[in-house]
Amino acid sequence: MILEKKIEYKQAKVLFSKEKLDERIKVLGAEITRDYKGKDLVVVGILKGSFIFMADLVRAIDLPLQVDFLGLSSYGDETSTSGVVKITNDLSKPIDHKHVLIVEDIIDTGLTMQYLLEFLKTRSPSSVKICALLEKPDNAKTKIDIAYKGFTIPNEFVVGYGLDYAGLYRNLAYIGVLGA
Ligand code: 5GP
Repeated sequence: MILEKKIEYKQAKVLFSKEKLDERIKVLGAEITRDYKGKDLVVVGILKGSFIFMADLVRAIDLPLQVDFLGLSSYGDETSTSGVVKITNDLSKPIDHKHVLIVEDIIDTGLTMQYLLEFLKTRSPSSVKICALLEKPDNAKTKIDIAYKGFTIPNEFVVGYGLDYAGLYRNLAYIGVLGA
């Protein structure tokens, strides 16, 4: 019998409030609207972590667009990267000749995104760019070009607004830190 690891549910300390996130996403949406005018845009959210950010971001983009999702395996219950990436849910439609905007919650080592870019390139899109809500540059193991970035953060484990710890905290309206 597999027993789930029990975790103690602690209150997360606010790093970015809902208001701060809304304000930044409005700016990102305006930039994306300006840059993709007249282009065939597909916004691809990376599950599960990007689902709330994605929902707010697409509503801040004032253009005709399509949405799709890619499911990737990530950490499990750990808070450090394994470097192993598995596609658990593929795109629902072809992306050839489309302009793809990847929406990711956080770029840490960059290894997940590096793999993803290679994976998407094989599908012949017209272009691929990245929109990431958060970046932890202190942990980078590879250089990733983030065209649209929400915030740069120090090397701390964050939760909320789609981001989890052991499957929990995704439903917080803010981004928080699980302190000691
Ligand atoms: P990378 O391959 O860039 O190291 O990891 C990217 C993925 O790791 C993210 O999509 C996210 O799922 C997870 N991750 C990295 N840092 C954090 C963090 O601080 N909090 C949470 N909840 N997930 C993180």
